[in-house]
Amino acid sequence: MGKHALLSASSSHRWLNCTPSARLEEYYPDTSTRYAEEGTAAHELCEYKVKHYLHGRMPRPQSEFYTEQIERYTDVYLHFFADTLEEVKQTCPVPLVMVEKQLDYSNYAPDGFGTADCIIAADGTMHVIDFKTGFQYVEVRENPQLMLYGLGALNACSWMYDIQQVALSIVQPRVDNVATYTCSVEELIRWGNTYVKPRAALAYQGKGKLVPGEHCRFCRHQAHCVARAEEALHLAQEEFCELDGTDKTDAVPNVRFKNPATLDHREIEALLPMLHRISEWIDEVFAYVSEEAIQHGVIWKGYKVVEGRSVRRFTDEKQVEQVAVAAGYLDIYKKSLITLTEFEKLMGKKKFQEILGGLVCRPPGKLTLVPETDKRPAVDLTAAPDEFTALD
Ligand code: SF4
Repeated sequence: MGKHALLSASSSHRWLNCTPSARLEEYYPDTSTRYAEEGTAAHELCEYKVKHYLHGRMPRPQSEFYTEQIERYTDVYLHFFADTLEEVKQTCPVPLVMVEKQLDYSNYAPDGFGTADCIIAADGTMHVIDFKTGFQYVEVRENPQLMLYGLGALNACSWMYDIQQVALSIVQPRVDNVATYTCSVEELIRWGNTYVKPRAALAYQGKGKLVPGEHCRFCRHQAHCVARAEEALHLAQEEFCELDGTDKTDAVPNVRFKNPATLDHREIEALLPMLHRISEWIDEVFAYVSEEAIQHGVIWKGYKVVEGRSVRRFTDEKQVEQVAVAAGYLDIYKKSLITLTEFEKLMGKKKFQEILGGLVCRPPGKLTLVPETDKRPAVDLTAAPDEFTALD
């Protein structure tokens, strides 16, 4: 078996809704992001903490991602796991705990398998616990990823225990989401047979209809997907016509796609000006609705205002200084160079230029793709890049 199944549990929300997506994604590299790396590192810490709790011996993993925040999140997961395990032991003294366990559900989806964070198999209720580090809230109710883990865990453990129901839990401390969805074993198996099996068979063969939706997020075919482009253009057409009162036939450029599934370079190029307009329009609408909701308390159905992440700070720095010194902590100050602007203010522009002008440079700005009408000159990407531009 490879590292990732074609019909993986983690991408199941996508291939169950849009069956051709699994095969279409195979054409693109599976690139990792910093967020994904942070997630992997956090999962390793969870595994360590749970095994440590179970008296397992393994070295504590090391990672640049282990911040105070990740320690806190993984502690929330550990406490949830420990509480659940102790509760299970009240009715089933010898449950089976499986951590980072690869589960096979290939009797529902061809070659299907996935790795669950934690399974507690026991008489009565079997628990599937999934830790998440993302910023985007994940719904636990009828969550296909967890339900597939549940099916895989039933395959592995139903002969050992008298399992009546399966409790699926998501522990997502970053957005205060700790929730459980419970279903009977019959319901879960019925879902596997009637919902998963037919869709998985189509997905495995790369067949079925392209169905765009919120599951397109993270789909590697996204930028080339005709269905997604058609949906966006259709949406844009409807909205622009309503706003401008223009004739619908003129609102969208007359783009015809050659291949029914994949956009080529020229087709993407033809879409760019329109996409730019759509993107500006989306930004406008979101700025407006956010302002209305936050400043004026306007309710938008399906949306809510939440608090963003905030950073801890001292309430009174003077008092902190006094209290820390009184407690004997004297090494609490640091000296740092004032900024370039502060130097200019201190010396005056002329003196600054005389004294420090030769020590100033301008690093290259971040490259950005903009429409041709933008006033800035185009960057010559064929020339060897200078790391810094000296300022006279
Ligand atoms: S981007 Fe296209 S292929 Fe991917 S899930 Fe959406 S509709 Fe399906």
